[in-house]
Amino acid sequence: MRWTEKKPDFTPESVDAGFHSLGFLECLNVLTKFRSRPVIVLQKTIMKDIIEHLKKRNVEMGGLLLGRVFQDVDCPSDFFVTVEKVIQSSTFSSTNVSLEMAADVWNAAREQGAAGQYVIGWYHSHPNLGAFFSGTDRHTQRSFFNQRHSVGLVVDPIRNERKFFMGPESDELPVEHTIQL
Ligand SMILES: [Zn+2]
Repeated sequence: MRWTEKKPDFTPESVDAGFHSLGFLECLNVLTKFRSRPVIVLQKTIMKDIIEHLKKRNVEMGGLLLGRVFQDVDCPSDFFVTVEKVIQSSTFSSTNVSLEMAADVWNAAREQGAAGQYVIGWYHSHPNLGAFFSGTDRHTQRSFFNQRHSVGLVVDPIRNERKFFMGPESDELPVEHTIQL
């Protein structure tokens, strides 16, 4: 499918609600960091699922990330995101004017997403090119994943590199702001 007018609908939840699903140490970890900039919490098998997908072929591949956004009720600029599910796309092509994924990707996201889960971002591979956001990737992020909580993940499965970017301006997130459960 071509991404043109799809706008992900989402409702942020309270930080307290987010802490219910985290252990004590993870809560502490999020609390000490998310005041300065956002934190991404990856549920257990997420990176494994993504890398297994992206290692299958030596071409650019990608998919969607499903999850939730938790924001501080009193200070809505402070928030963290949980990535809870991966929707693999069988086809993937991104150019300066479009992002194309398999036609069933949105349906899969809708069907496989649990209540409260939304499309919160995307991931794609740079086989043996290194993990960085190209001009095209920044354009894709700005066009289609332009909420402040939108996650862009790029992985080089050959060099074993990965980087997370967030928001419409593709701000790189420091490694310590990603927490793996
Ligand atoms: Zn790219």
